[in-house]
Amino acid sequence: MRSYVREARRRVGPKKARIRPVIERLAEEHADAAIALTFESPLELLVSVMLSAQTTDVNVNRVTATLFQKYKRPEDYLAVPVAELERDIFPTGFYRQKAKALRGTMAMLIADYDGQVPERFEDLLRLPGVARKTANVVSAERGHAVGIVVDTHVRRLSQRLGFTRQEDPVKIERDLVKLVPRADWARFPHLLIWHGRRICDARRPRCEDCPLAVDLCPSSRLPIAAA
Ligand code: SF4
Repeated sequence: MRSYVREARRRVGPKKARIRPVIERLAEEHADAAIALTFESPLELLVSVMLSAQTTDVNVNRVTATLFQKYKRPEDYLAVPVAELERDIFPTGFYRQKAKALRGTMAMLIADYDGQVPERFEDLLRLPGVARKTANVVSAERGHAVGIVVDTHVRRLSQRLGFTRQEDPVKIERDLVKLVPRADWARFPHLLIWHGRRICDARRPRCEDCPLAVDLCPSSRLPIAAA
């Protein structure tokens, strides 16, 4: 088994040489890869990403379609009783924690940032309930990625492509930022996420339809002769 893995790594070559062609082929395959959340302002972006924890983007979009009609400014989230906000975000799950985080964040936006979503990553991380992943997504969408978002697809694909051997998202991100050109930090996770959803499924990767098989992916299940 080990020699098989070694052979596969030898076949595709070093990751530093593969990263650009991988990005290029994925960009061609998934030209529409982008964030799936619907938002029209930095505040809506921040709220959508906060609500997206432990649920699907489709579910969040369904909720925010009406939520954003009612809550337009940070003050609006504090003007209603907490139970009403909880009801309004209920379908996204973990509604109590999310309502608490939203209200804490809105209070800080008003007190410290003039009611605006701050640009700096460090400032985003200060907001209650905003962890590194949320801050990463918000920064990347606003055009100044400071890291690489690691979700379940990014983790699986990075491992399959031999870009990391780590399991912990923070360590995976550390490996990826050394490898991926900075200009691609924002789109790289979208490419892996869409590739993971459409082709490189967790249980049944469709290597026969994958543009990375056989020459760029050490985990390809295709016989070498099919390349
Ligand atoms: S070749 Fe197979 S395992 Fe590798 S990225 Fe493509 S679908 Fe996934």
